[in-house]
Amino acid sequence: MRISIIGGGVVGLFTGYIAAIKGHEAVVYEKEKALGGGASGHNAGVIHMLQTPFRTLKSRLALNGNKLHRIYSRNIGYTMRRVEAYLLSRSYIHRILDRFLIGYLDKYGIRARYIDIDELRRRYPFVKRGVKSGIAIDGYYVVDPMEVLSRLRENIELFGGEVRLGYEVDSVEDDGECISIDGEEYDYVVISAGPYTAGLATQIGINPPIQRYAKGPMIRVRWFTDAIFAELKLFTRNRYTKGGAVIPTPRGDYNILGPGFRWVNDPEETQVSKEEIDELINRYSSIIEIDVDVIDAFAGVRVINYPDDDYIISLKDRVVALFGIDSPGFTAAPALAEKIIELVTTQS
Ligand SMILES: Cc1cc2nc3c(=O)[nH]c(=O)nc-3n(C[C@H](O)[C@H](O)[C@H](O)COP(=O)(O)OP(=O)(O)OC[C@H]3O[C@@H](n4cnc5c(N)ncnc54)[C@H](O)[C@@H]3O)c2cc1C
Repeated sequence: MRISIIGGGVVGLFTGYIAAIKGHEAVVYEKEKALGGGASGHNAGVIHMLQTPFRTLKSRLALNGNKLHRIYSRNIGYTMRRVEAYLLSRSYIHRILDRFLIGYLDKYGIRARYIDIDELRRRYPFVKRGVKSGIAIDGYYVVDPMEVLSRLRENIELFGGEVRLGYEVDSVEDDGECISIDGEEYDYVVISAGPYTAGLATQIGINPPIQRYAKGPMIRVRWFTDAIFAELKLFTRNRYTKGGAVIPTPRGDYNILGPGFRWVNDPEETQVSKEEIDELINRYSSIIEIDVDVIDAFAGVRVINYPDDDYIISLKDRVVALFGIDSPGFTAAPALAEKIIELVTTQS
């Protein structure tokens, strides 16, 4: 089959890669001259385990994606660094709640364990005295998102596919007989254009859901630790974000703090203000105490299906459109890609 993919983010590239290794002709169109212009190049690089609520499509795809990254990273050749993820709390109540939480997570195949805070503090002296309890979750990894994108591109080309950079698709023509982009005919078109999927899908009669954008500012700091640290907030959390964390990187040359969360009107709104940097510097000060030496700041924009905040995969005739692939979309990408290729091959 000839499959075209609009959007060279992590989902589009994984879709192109899986199509190519399964023997299909894959062409990925990317409007920017370089990869990583969208959220796929501006994220925290965490391969997650935990995504609530567990029954959602995005939670299931993230769990499966986590497994698939471990397999594909070897074939494709990108580095995944295994890290501990510590969810810490300042409230004594969590000493009891954490035990229930561990049992609950176990039902969904997520391994977690209660941690001894004194021992954790001996290993990580920067953990604050006010931290009263915590759990460690197994199965977390960090990647360099740009490395993943470039290895995917190389592998698509290795298996005979194409990645056309600097090629913005304005419209998809469907005359009932065949589907084409600028006169080139395809058996299927996958629209995986992040915030721009909705505009392209509308042109061919697919109704997009209501969507909102949220900016996630992050800072790189000159400081390194080998684990993820986040504050566990069971009752006060914003349901559209996991709340960010202190995040290591695969090469260990810096750490990321963030992302933050702010609703914006424009998916291109990625400037980070001084106030946002200060907010990130202070954000984790309730659980860790470090001298923050900021290298730089950057931000990505999430596209969120509102208010349900779950992924939507629409298949109409020979077009697949992906809506609301927000965090943890980098984790879910290989699972999403497998699902798309399975959808189009079973239909044809
Ligand atoms: C701040 C932040 C932090 C995050 N952290 C994590 C994390 O730690 N772990 C995790 O799993 N997920 C994380 N995510 C989520 C993850 O980054 C996204 O879910 C994922 O990158 C979405 O990938 P995508 O391919 O769907 O979209 P995108 O990366 O947006 O790719 C879409 C591509 O389509 C191109 N395009 C658009 N229109 C056209 C057109 N007309 N023609 C051709 N090309 C077009 C764009 O240029 C873009 O490159 C984070 C997201 C944000 C914003």
